[in-house]
Amino acid sequence: MDFNFSDSQRELKTELDDFFAKAMRDAPPEYLGDTLEATFGSDSGWEFYKGLKKRFAETGHHIMAWPAEYGGRGATIIEQLIFEETAAYHGAPLDRFGVGMFGPTVLLYGDEDQKKVILSKIASGEWQYCQGWSEPNAGSDLAGLKTTAVRDGDHYVINGQKIWTTGAHRADHVFLLARSDPGSRRSAGLAVFNVDLCLPGVEVRPIRYMNGVHLYNEVFFTDVRIPASERIGGEGEGWKLTRATMNFERSGVGRFAAARRQLERFIAYLKSTRRNGRPLAEDPLARRKLARLWTDMEVGRALAYRVGWEQHKGNQVFSAAAASEAKILGSELGQRLANFATEIMGLYGQLEAGPRAPLGGTMADAYQLCMGFNIAGGSLEVQRNIIAWVGVGLPRV
Ligand SMILES: Cc1cc2nc3c(=O)[nH]c(=O)nc-3n(C[C@H](O)[C@H](O)[C@H](O)COP(=O)(O)OP(=O)(O)OC[C@H]3O[C@@H](n4cnc5c(N)ncnc54)[C@H](O)[C@@H]3O)c2cc1C
Repeated sequence: MDFNFSDSQRELKTELDDFFAKAMRDAPPEYLGDTLEATFGSDSGWEFYKGLKKRFAETGHHIMAWPAEYGGRGATIIEQLIFEETAAYHGAPLDRFGVGMFGPTVLLYGDEDQKKVILSKIASGEWQYCQGWSEPNAGSDLAGLKTTAVRDGDHYVINGQKIWTTGAHRADHVFLLARSDPGSRRSAGLAVFNVDLCLPGVEVRPIRYMNGVHLYNEVFFTDVRIPASERIGGEGEGWKLTRATMNFERSGVGRFAAARRQLERFIAYLKSTRRNGRPLAEDPLARRKLARLWTDMEVGRALAYRVGWEQHKGNQVFSAAAASEAKILGSELGQRLANFATEIMGLYGQLEAGPRAPLGGTMADAYQLCMGFNIAGGSLEVQRNIIAWVGVGLPRV
């Protein structure tokens, strides 16, 4: 792998650093903490995100890896990683569901009409998507889902329930995985649908996370009628499409860039806080633990770029296992950093807000959030199974 950026990639990085540094000066204080929480969990964070999406619609940065005919620049996955890494380092929100997941799926499997409408609405920032996959009894075992989409003339009628749907209360569309053949089992008989959340029969109910923030939802579908033209790909092809969606942006580079940002802030805290008459930065235990976290962050970043590089070369088998490695490393890094920071901050580390809360309470928040992030996008146990099977070559169980 070539670890060096080309001249044009270096220029892009400088341009993006400048763009995001300036843009984030106007961000509301929620963006000091977790970006996802700031975006979906507060009105001011949501308004800021919408404004940023409009600016991206002008610059085209966010869809640079799309083909030129759909507004992109035909850039490579490495440029896309540079964009995502830079945004995450500055704590800037990106459209991970529309631009990151559903858009590339529509590019691959949508018909020409679907591409024209859906891709232009994502690119312009007008439509916000959420991901309608998990159900109360179908998370790791996604193929066991029960939501049905039954054909009725020119329409499908949808019935069922989704859960943990991040940002559904802000979104206007969902990419839905449902059973188009109600008699089918497991991954056969599934299809993907583009569903307008404003249709009659859709109900979004909040799930409050343990820190009180509203990010997640249950979404209920009762006799929701959608035109048959909203099915992406064929009937029975839902599993194939969903596996493709899972493969988009799996490198996790944003996780390591966000960790770098958190670590830099934490280092500033260690340097400026005195304990027993000397700065915490001189404490041997703190130094040792910090060095370990920093090393893991650098290793994770290299791994994330390696995943991108292999995907760029079309090596999907390697990249699936390596993406799981990066996910485990990144999730556990976030958890260990939050544990260490709140531990060394002592009782102050539990304060979520107020003048005595170190780093604005962001570490107390991270401590609670990291548990959910270990599960979101596939639990760590499931990632380890993927490494054992795809990466190491052990039998699939
Ligand atoms: C913060 C957060 C955000 C999310 N956002 C979304 C979203 O936007 N859209 C969406 O569709 N879903 C979303 N999810 C759902 C997420 O994809 C599922 O929670 C996840 O796949 C786990 O499924 P589950 O909750 O049903 O747990 P289960 O699958 O019931 O797992 C329970 C436990 O059993 C373990 N386990 C399960 N199967 C195996 C196995 N084969 N081998 C070993 N251990 C196993 C798991 O690791 C876990 O510890 C989100 C979840 C969280 C926590």
